[in-house]
Amino acid sequence: MTTRRDFLKTAGVLTAATAFMKPSDIFAQKNNPKKISTSKKLQLDWENFDGIMKFTFTVSGSSRKGTPIVITRLSWNGYSGYGEAAMPPYLGETQASVNDFLKKVVENVLPKFDNPFCIQDIMLAVDKLSTNNTAAKASVDIALHDLVGNVMGQPWWKIWGFDSSKAPYTSYTIGYDASDEMINTKLDEANWNKIIKVKLGMTEAEDKRMINLIRARDSRPIIIDANQGWKDKYYALDMIHWLKEQGISMIEQPMSKYYLDDIAWITERSPLPIIADESCQRLTDIRTLHGAYHGINIKLMKCTGMREAREMVSLAKALHMKLMIGCMTETSIAISAAAQLSPEMEWADLDGNYLLGNDCFDGMKLVDGKITLEDKPGLGLTPKPGIIKL
Ligand code: MG
Repeated sequence: MTTRRDFLKTAGVLTAATAFMKPSDIFAQKNNPKKISTSKKLQLDWENFDGIMKFTFTVSGSSRKGTPIVITRLSWNGYSGYGEAAMPPYLGETQASVNDFLKKVVENVLPKFDNPFCIQDIMLAVDKLSTNNTAAKASVDIALHDLVGNVMGQPWWKIWGFDSSKAPYTSYTIGYDASDEMINTKLDEANWNKIIKVKLGMTEAEDKRMINLIRARDSRPIIIDANQGWKDKYYALDMIHWLKEQGISMIEQPMSKYYLDDIAWITERSPLPIIADESCQRLTDIRTLHGAYHGINIKLMKCTGMREAREMVSLAKALHMKLMIGCMTETSIAISAAAQLSPEMEWADLDGNYLLGNDCFDGMKLVDGKITLEDKPGLGLTPKPGIIKL
């Protein structure tokens, strides 16, 4: 039998829950059969989503037009949080592998926890389910952070104690293109932005053609991502000196991650900072990379999400390594999650949602290219109407 006291308690919880509910959640509840759980059991729902890119995206080694994505939602006690797994093909995860992994999370992890606040233990249990599946793990981690932030009524940059005014400008990526006209179109598309990131690592003639073409019309700062494309350390160092003369300010992953000694040799002599991307997946990689690179590029899809990314920030800073935050082609869910860490970063490359033609969420805003962190709970997300069903 429900007593008056019980009723008031329940009513209080529900009122508090509704007060913190985002318009997006109310929208989702109205339009979707997958309801937000009001029980004190963690409920995980997900939906496959095909990200469509505005341009064909070419980096050293591959070319593609779309990205498979899985959107997740964790709900508990009338609150909810969104997460995302974004899977460029080279990482080896698919929507099917993420779906299988999330089923394991539902069966083996969530029943052991009766509240979302044990982020550390929940994510360690999720991590133990398999060796890889880092994007699938990130989709749980990001939803969990959004959920907890929503329950607390605070954004993560604030919970972590970061100064939002220190958030950097993001770079905007110009991929390789054989057509000068197409590169000009991409530069026009990026005219709002303050920093350009250029993908190199093709032949010397093609790399120099890209830079000369851009420099002929554009004086904005440029950072370079060679995506492991340069094959010889002497050539790479010569190229870096040439790039410095063109006003380039940083180099990401000059050679294959398997040539760490060669990269350490380059780093020792380079006039520009050398940053690890493909070489740096998770927290434990930092120990090996210390001394071989000036810094690391953290990406949530590589490192299983916000919890481990936060730990990577602390370790890299303790080792006096430089920090960059990057992304895959992601919706505003994962971009807004990564943005929470951005005040600690020297460089941010959080343009993944701008490369998508069908972003399904509103989240972190760029103002003249600067990452702008708002005072909204969780990750500050709102689904765009009519795109996803969660
Ligand atoms: Mg990179």
